[in-house]
Amino acid sequence: MTALATTTSPIYMRVGSVSEALEMAARHSDDFSYLAGGTDVMVNRFQGNNPASCLIDLSGIAELQNVSEEADWLRIGALVKLNRLKNYPPITEYFPVLIEAARAVGSPLVRSMATLGGNLLCENRCIFYNQTEFGREAVNYCLKSGGDICIATGGPKVCFSEFVSDTAPALISLDARVEIAAPGGGKTIPLEEIYTGDGLQPRKLEKTAILKTILLPLNRCFRSVFKKLSPRKSVDFTSLTTAVSVDDNGKMKVVLGGVSPGPVVIEWQRNGDPEALIKQALKLCKTVDNDVYSRNYRRKMISVFLSESLEQL
Ligand SMILES: Cc1cc2nc3c(=O)[nH]c(=O)nc-3n(C[C@H](O)[C@H](O)[C@H](O)COP(=O)(O)OP(=O)(O)OC[C@H]3O[C@@H](n4cnc5c(N)ncnc54)[C@H](O)[C@@H]3O)c2cc1C
Repeated sequence: MTALATTTSPIYMRVGSVSEALEMAARHSDDFSYLAGGTDVMVNRFQGNNPASCLIDLSGIAELQNVSEEADWLRIGALVKLNRLKNYPPITEYFPVLIEAARAVGSPLVRSMATLGGNLLCENRCIFYNQTEFGREAVNYCLKSGGDICIATGGPKVCFSEFVSDTAPALISLDARVEIAAPGGGKTIPLEEIYTGDGLQPRKLEKTAILKTILLPLNRCFRSVFKKLSPRKSVDFTSLTTAVSVDDNGKMKVVLGGVSPGPVVIEWQRNGDPEALIKQALKLCKTVDNDVYSRNYRRKMISVFLSESLEQL
């Protein structure tokens, strides 16, 4: 482990193992951030949205950088970079939708640093929150910035910042599970269970928990369709992401991102009524006007994306 600190910069620690990271996190548990590729953490820091005084860099942990097969599962280390996913034949052969989703993230430069685990845990976004300090102050601070109300809705209780990970909808639609390491012991749970759906605290994980591995079932013969709505094809965050996967038994999973504070997950059947599916999706999505596209446009695009996805499948 190496540690660097000056009076103006945070303490920076680069760790070499999961246990070392957990130990360092326990020492700084009230005020630290894990860093993987850093493409989300550092941008949030520059904007003043992540003031942690200690950064624990996980990128030197070799055991989280591999892809392997074990029994009926493909195991992808949380630190595998997004632009490397295409180099693994089991991913290209069985889960090409994951590569498509990863390619929708940021730009080539971002994807060469960003990790899969970091993408699953990237911070929720909102046009009233992802601003300079001046911009946040100008609207008297939103709930997520410590203010009293959500600027988008005027409500005092609920933060509607959007869940923007592009790979999470694809992975959830494939019934991915995640291995978590935490001080009290590890666990393996369905990916969707790590999200709260609360814009203020989007994840259920303990602050010191480490995402180790993403597991995908190898024996299900999925077919999938992925779509993303954003002003430009590159660099922009999502305004709506949909991933729909169906397995060889006709079990379908539909996942939406970018339109609620958490992923919206719907279990369906291949022969189910498309109109009923769209109605259900619109009912579950808590979409508000906090994005570059209007709420009404994004809700219309939910219908368009889901109809097209079902046709393509
Ligand atoms: C210009 C630009 C465009 C972008 N466009 C998109 C986009 O289109 N879609 C999109 O989804 N994202 C986008 N991003 C955000 C970001 O680049 C990605 O989400 C990226 O995948 C984050 O991965 P990272 O490894 O850099 O995460 P980091 O920034 O290192 O970490 C992100 C979060 O995850 C936590 N974390 C990381 N790894 C672990 C772990 N193993 N265990 C526990 N906690 C961990 C960190 O503490 C932090 O909270 C963009 C960023 C930039 C700068």
